[in-house]
Amino acid sequence: MINRLRPPGDGDILVPGGTISVLGTTSDNIATLESIRPTVEEVERNLIQGMAMVPILEQTRFIRAFSGVRPLLQSAGAAADGRKASRGFTLFDHEAQGLSNLATITGGKLTTFRMMAERTSDLVAARLGNNTPCSTATEPLPSGAAVRWTEPGFSARYWYRRRDPADGILCECEMVPESAVDAIVDSAPGAEKQMTLQAIGIRSRVGKGSCQGAFCSLRVTSHLYDRGVYDSRQGLRLTREFVGERFKGVRPVLWGQQMPQMELAEALHCMMGFDHLDDGDDENGGEA
Ligand SMILES: Cc1cc2nc3c(=O)[nH]c(=O)nc-3n(C[C@H](O)[C@H](O)[C@H](O)COP(=O)(O)OP(=O)(O)OC[C@H]3O[C@@H](n4cnc5c(N)ncnc54)[C@H](O)[C@@H]3O)c2cc1C
Repeated sequence: MINRLRPPGDGDILVPGGTISVLGTTSDNIATLESIRPTVEEVERNLIQGMAMVPILEQTRFIRAFSGVRPLLQSAGAAADGRKASRGFTLFDHEAQGLSNLATITGGKLTTFRMMAERTSDLVAARLGNNTPCSTATEPLPSGAAVRWTEPGFSARYWYRRRDPADGILCECEMVPESAVDAIVDSAPGAEKQMTLQAIGIRSRVGKGSCQGAFCSLRVTSHLYDRGVYDSRQGLRLTREFVGERFKGVRPVLWGQQMPQMELAEALHCMMGFDHLDDGDDENGGEA
């Protein structure tokens, strides 16, 4: 990790995260929760600051930009600087407002999230008449086999170790094989048909590489049609949703190598008919 030694500010940190690195950050206060997207201007701000620290960033390929809404607590009248706001957390029980069926947990950070969950579940459980203290501090969280595919590099190592020619690679950027997608789908018995590409992407690294779903979305969808998980146009719609979501992140960094990549993605997805998917609807289960 490379971090500028100065009071926290824009574009001062480069964090490796497995097969990618993340450059950031910017921090803005927002008045509305609608359409929260990183802007091109914010990307440039990060880049200008980042390049002063790591000059090669000028020629580096950027895959996507993302942002999140972080609820932070600030005392009334404090200066509205998100970077200086406390990362402490508060649990509101809303009793003073006469509400005993609502709880709000807000603020906090990754290092305190289990404690936040503990305080919240203790409050909610007590309201439901269960005063047994929450055991999250002493009981390890279960680690389902299906989530191991989120570890960067895991699926590539797994595939190279087995070298099974029958186990085709569906996502070449992140080397996610068919067996990984199968394991994820099979981890939700009875809910296979609801397994969206987003859900598979969260549980693996499908769609997270430089093609941002251009190829892997089609391969995973075809595989799931072959397996009978998807039928009619359901899979195509889910694929369109998936690539649409990925594109939101690609949009602010569309230059250099990422531009022709997205032109190619658009051509491929038009060939698949995503732009005409709603013509002649087949809600009753027509052929894909
Ligand atoms: C922009 C940003 C920057 C941050 N930076 C830092 C930082 O630098 N350092 C730090 O320590 N912390 C940071 N945090 C805070 C940290 O990310 C959170 O405190 C932490 O992720 C909280 O963990 P959690 O498991 O409680 O909730 P979350 O991580 O929010 O997980 C909740 C999960 O539940 C899922 N979910 C929600 N509803 C449902 C439902 N009905 N059914 C099924 N699933 C559902 C959500 O999709 C989500 O995956 C940051 C947060 C943001 C937004």
